[in-house]
Amino acid sequence: METKVIRGGRLLDITSHSAPYCDILVRGDSIAEIGPPGLASPEGAAQIDATGRLMHAGLMNGHTHSHGNLSKGTGDRWTLELLLTAGPWITGGRQTEEKYLSTLIGACEMLLKGCTGCYDLMVEFPTPSTEGVAAVSKAYADVGMRAVVAPMVADISFFEAIPGLMDALPPALQKDVERLRLAPYETTLANLEAVVKGWSYDREAIRPAVAPTIPLHCSDDFMMGCRDLARGHGLGLHSHVSESKVQVVSGLKVYGKTLTSHIDSLGLLGPDFTVAHGVWLDDDDMRLLGDHGASVSHNPGSNALLGNGIADTRRMLEFGVNLAIGTDGASCCDHQNMYESMRVASYVSHVRGPEWQRWLKPEEILRAATEGSAKALGFERCGRIEPGYKADIVFLDLGAINWIPVNDPVNQLVHTEDGSSVHSVMVGGRMVVENRRVVGVDLVALAADAERVAEKLKGVNTPNRALYDRLESIVGSFCPGLARQPFHINRFGAH
Ligand SMILES: [Zn+2]
Repeated sequence: METKVIRGGRLLDITSHSAPYCDILVRGDSIAEIGPPGLASPEGAAQIDATGRLMHAGLMNGHTHSHGNLSKGTGDRWTLELLLTAGPWITGGRQTEEKYLSTLIGACEMLLKGCTGCYDLMVEFPTPSTEGVAAVSKAYADVGMRAVVAPMVADISFFEAIPGLMDALPPALQKDVERLRLAPYETTLANLEAVVKGWSYDREAIRPAVAPTIPLHCSDDFMMGCRDLARGHGLGLHSHVSESKVQVVSGLKVYGKTLTSHIDSLGLLGPDFTVAHGVWLDDDDMRLLGDHGASVSHNPGSNALLGNGIADTRRMLEFGVNLAIGTDGASCCDHQNMYESMRVASYVSHVRGPEWQRWLKPEEILRAATEGSAKALGFERCGRIEPGYKADIVFLDLGAINWIPVNDPVNQLVHTEDGSSVHSVMVGGRMVVENRRVVGVDLVALAADAERVAEKLKGVNTPNRALYDRLESIVGSFCPGLARQPFHINRFGAH
């Protein structure tokens, strides 16, 4: 088995907020030994010079959407519901090449910004395909990044899911949105089954999962079908739960209970279940999630951009919820930068109130963005730099301006680092970013491909754009009306 020894670097120690000089011996894809400078290494071990570098465990993105990378920056003042309305416009008409390309753009951005694994809720309309999932998985494999590829599925369209919304549309628009109908759930479950049965990647690197997108968008039979499929094959489950106030108000109307108690009654909650966002979870919801050992991917940048509010992460931790951190898709966060997600996670916990002891600590945020996310993704032995763990290591340039001077490396990683100091990245013992370049990827060629494809998609999606323009004012007034209805908790920044 190939051995490598990393010498001369400083290793981040989260507990003591320090970064002592350490050598690291890597055997195969894992860390074999860590010791003071001068660590003995087997003859023939490759030497990696980490002089002037700070080493930290690869960040893990708890929630993203690969299809968003071709549409970054498209919207500005979009609520979640307007974003969902814009879905056919900004992600429609994709062929296999575009699915691959969109994923590759995000994978490169994540690696260049110190992130070595992600939970990708990719979408295909009207149902997932083995070719589409293969294209997305191949992009991660090509750059050597870990990923959970979770087809995001539904059998109820957004317009059918929000009570009263369809009736609020004039008949001509009702007819137009009817063509946004999704495949029957039996078809989608069969397609998911085919994806899982044909899986060819090592599950320690790239694994499948099942993502019933939003409970309101999935019939109960479909939710239970997803549950059985996931549990039968040992896969993760991931869903957007209580992301917006529109969702929680609609959930009460449709189910007569919170979305979390609804999916609990369907038997979905468990240690393999990840809630995306969870902004509008109440205490009982969080207790249920904690008791089931479930995870929440906290995506604070997206929650702020889409106006969904501020999640109560301190309360989640108090109820024993496993906290992960994510960016969300590039069309609702506009980047794939986990350093920024960590910083925003810190800031929004501060603006919840003056009780500073309840604000998240930088070490809690860093643990959530590494170990917490790794747990949500289902990657064991990831998220720490310790013997027995996978060798997923980010090397930051301590000569970069963010680190002059080094005072408290944990605080600086969360509050100061912006990704610009990432010099190289190792995943599973293999260097995948070297000297600020993704190994094997030509960004100039990638940019040319992206330009060409974006232009093509713009043409293809012109009718979808026109449909969005006709829907914007109706969805944009109906949904905020729902969000103004009373609910027993408040997560908005102001009343
Ligand atoms: Zn999402």
